[in-house]
Amino acid sequence: MKAPCIAQRDVTLHILKTFHLVMNKKLGQNFLIDSHVVNKIVEAAEITPEDKVLEIGPGIGTLTQGLAEAGASVVGVELDKKLIDVLGKTLADYDQVRIVHGDILKIDISREIAAESYKVVANLPYYITTPIIMKLLEERLPISLLVTMIQKEVALRMIASPGSKDYGALSVAVQYYTEPEIVFIVPPASFIPAPAVHSAVLRCRIRKMPPIAVESERDFFKVVKAAFCQRRKTLSNSLKGGGFEANDIATMLDRAKIEGQRRGETLALADFGALANAYTALIRERG
Ligand code: SAM
Repeated sequence: MKAPCIAQRDVTLHILKTFHLVMNKKLGQNFLIDSHVVNKIVEAAEITPEDKVLEIGPGIGTLTQGLAEAGASVVGVELDKKLIDVLGKTLADYDQVRIVHGDILKIDISREIAAESYKVVANLPYYITTPIIMKLLEERLPISLLVTMIQKEVALRMIASPGSKDYGALSVAVQYYTEPEIVFIVPPASFIPAPAVHSAVLRCRIRKMPPIAVESERDFFKVVKAAFCQRRKTLSNSLKGGGFEANDIATMLDRAKIEGQRRGETLALADFGALANAYTALIRERG
């Protein structure tokens, strides 16, 4: 007999009752109860039976089941120990699913999923969305596609363009590593318990090459962080506030041909690249 679809209110409530589960708000536990949303996430991730998938926070196995039904091999990393036994039962029919007990921010991901290339698909715990996404990107794991359900406001910041109110260091970082897009919006009623905010499914295609030539990524992110550290100040003043020397700032702006009176949030990725490369060159010349 086919396993019942977990992404339904009555099935989820039955699982919670059977295993005496009380949902843990601190762990961002909002479980999906809408099978259409699960299907649309699986579709957004372009899942085929050849796919290897890392899922973060499988919960009671709602999205995991959708991925496995589409034929993917899934490694699910779940922090809540109580859910590990539950997942063993709810996903018992799916041989191609392996559950790992651990904290995604602490585990060595390459040890758990050794595939040459894989996808990450997750309904992320909202309290640590940004650290998780930044860890996945900064570690340069062999991820081809990242499809995550996150808070709508955070998704808007990740896709924001220069000059908009949502544009910031997070937009620059995500757009440096990936091509992000919002695929669809999910209302609170699709979850138990219903969160206070709307969610968005964000699809990030990982870039094979960064969109700009940066000589030192460390310097690039130092400049980006400084440029946004005081949003209402001019770029010159923000860089000063971010720890750059006044003389260096003048030379960097001059070489990058950028007006110091501009505000950090008007700079495109290429502008940040030019500014960072000017700084790297300055440091190198100094020996
Ligand atoms: N995938 C399920 C779904 O779609 O219904 C549950 C998603 S729920 C929003 C987030 C899940 O992430 C919870 O099961 C929670 O226990 C788990 N989680 C929270 N922090 C985690 C961490 N640091 N590492 C791994 N899993 C975590």
